Amino acid sequence: MDLNNLEKVLKKEPEYRQKQANLAVFVNLIEDWQEATFFGLQLRQELNKECPLSIKAETLVSKTKDSIKASITLKDDLKIKSVLMHHKDGRNTVCVSCQVGCALGCEFCATGKMGFERNLDCFEIIEQALFFARYLKKNNKRISNVVFMGMGEPFLNYENVLKAIRILNYKEGLNIGARNISVSTAGIPEGIEKLSKEGFQVNLAVSLHAPNNKLRSQIMPINKKYILEQVLKAVDSYIKITKRKVMFEYLLIKDINDSDQHAMELAKLMRKPLYFLNLILYNSTGFFKPSSAKRVEEFKKILKTAGVNFSQRHRFGDDIKAACGQFAVKNRIIL
Ligand code: SAH
Ligand code: SF4
Repeated sequence: MDLNNLEKVLKKEPEYRQKQANLAVFVNLIEDWQEATFFGLQLRQELNKECPLSIKAETLVSKTKDSIKASITLKDDLKIKSVLMHHKDGRNTVCVSCQVGCALGCEFCATGKMGFERNLDCFEIIEQALFFARYLKKNNKRISNVVFMGMGEPFLNYENVLKAIRILNYKEGLNIGARNISVSTAGIPEGIEKLSKEGFQVNLAVSLHAPNNKLRSQIMPINKKYILEQVLKAVDSYIKITKRKVMFEYLLIKDINDSDQHAMELAKLMRKPLYFLNLILYNSTGFFKPSSAKRVEEFKKILKTAGVNFSQRHRFGDDIKAACGQFAVKNRIIL
C-alpha cells in the first residue's frame, strides 16, 4: 500500500473526487481501486498503479484468540509489527509501530536490541490501522482505540505520528476519538512539550521503569540525555496546559526495579495530581525475567499504602510474542 501519491493523482480531478477517495479507503475500506466503481476505469487503473491499496501481511493469532499480530512488509521489504487486542468489554485496540526498530536501545526491549532502521511515513502508520480495520469489518466490528506502543519512539518521528493521529481522528474517515488514542514515549521532553501545544485530547503515556536516575540510566540509555527531573518537568507543564492525566508505565522486572525500596521511591515520585501509574508485568525477551507474583503483590501493597493511583495492565499475546517490547522477537507459528 502507498497513499503518498493520492493527492497528486486526484489533483487534476474535481475536488469531490478526493472526498470520494477518502470515503472509499477509510470508511468503505476497499482493498482495490477497482471496487471504487464511481471512478472511471482509467482513473481506477491509474490509482491502482500510483496508490496501491493491497497490504502485504502475515498474521498470528494467540491461543486465547484475544490478540492477533500482523507482520507487515513495507515497500522496501522491511517489516514492522502491529497487534490487534480484543478487550472483554468489546473494545478493539490496535497497537501500531512508528519506526522500524528503535535508536534508544532500552536494555529490556527487543525492539531496542535490534537497532534503528528508519522512520515510518504517516501512511505506513495508517496502513497498520487499515489492515486491522479491514479485518474487523468482516465481523462488523471497528477499531475503538489506537496506541503508539509498538516499535519505535513516537517523539523521534513526531511529524509523521501527528499526521497519522489526525488521519485516524478524521470524522469522515476512521473516526477514532482523540481520547481513544494514546502515545507512549520513553521520555523526550521536546515531544511532550510540543504535544501539549497541539490542542489535542490524545493520551500521553511515559515509560518510567525506574524510580531514580542511576537505575533508569542503566536500563534506558536515553535517561543520560534527559534525566528524570527534565522528563517530569515537561510532564508537569503538559498537565498544566492540557489539564489531562498522564499515564506512567512501570515494568516489573525481576531483581532489577521491583524491590520495596524501589516501590517507596516510585511512590514519592507519583504522588501528584493527574499522575497515574500503570504497572506492567515484564514480558520475557530473553534478557530479563518478570517479577514473581508474590513480589508484585508486595510492590503493590507499598504503593497502595502510600496512596498512589495505579492499575495493573492485562497481558495480551505473550504466546505469539505480540506483547509490548516483544515485537522484534521472532516466532514461527504462521497462520
Ligand atoms: N518507545 C516508546 C513506545 C514503544 S514501547 C516507549 O518506550 O514508551 C511501548 C511500551 O512497552 C513501553 O512502555 C516499553 O517500555 C514497554 N516494553 C518494552 N519492552 C517490554 C517488555 N519486554 N515487556 C513489557 N513491556 C515492554
Ligand atoms: Fe525504543 Fe520504547 Fe523499546 Fe525503549 S522501550 S527501545 S524507547 S521502543
